[in-house]
Amino acid sequence: MAVLEILKYPHPMLKKRCQEVDRIDGGVKQLVRDMVETMYRSNGIGMAACQVGIPKRVIVVDVGPIDPEKDLFAMINPEIVSEEGEIEHEEGCLSVPDCSEKVKRKEKILVRGFSPEGEEIEVSGDGILAIALQHELDHLNGVLILDRISRLKREIYRNKLKKEKRKEEGV
Ligand SMILES: [Zn+2]
Repeated sequence: MAVLEILKYPHPMLKKRCQEVDRIDGGVKQLVRDMVETMYRSNGIGMAACQVGIPKRVIVVDVGPIDPEKDLFAMINPEIVSEEGEIEHEEGCLSVPDCSEKVKRKEKILVRGFSPEGEEIEVSGDGILAIALQHELDHLNGVLILDRISRLKREIYRNKLKKEKRKEEGV
């Protein structure tokens, strides 16, 4: 297993739509293992493959730190089957450091995809699990939490980044 580098906004890879996995082979299984290790090392509760530079439709989620009844799972080519309700919750993202904003999501969601063993699986969840699933599915479509907040808040975040960059460069 290996800890991978997490790409940060505004890396162009984070804006791309990721491709379907057409064969679940050893490489995909290895990617899932590395993503899990990277997620745990960063204290994240979810991760999409594009965040570590692989533009494929693979996600890992473990909301255990917030909801101990839920287990770790990985999903390949996940698709939303149904969704309902509305919930608003503060979200952060490993690829958007120092940003924590309220985002509107569906309250309940049912997602279908494949396990790393190639079996079709379904995951349904509400609350934090539903939020994490939608957050990771967004990543697969090149959508970040910054795209789901107001333009003003997005500008404030961008300006903050610029200032930090200037400070680093000593300008
Ligand atoms: Zn994220």
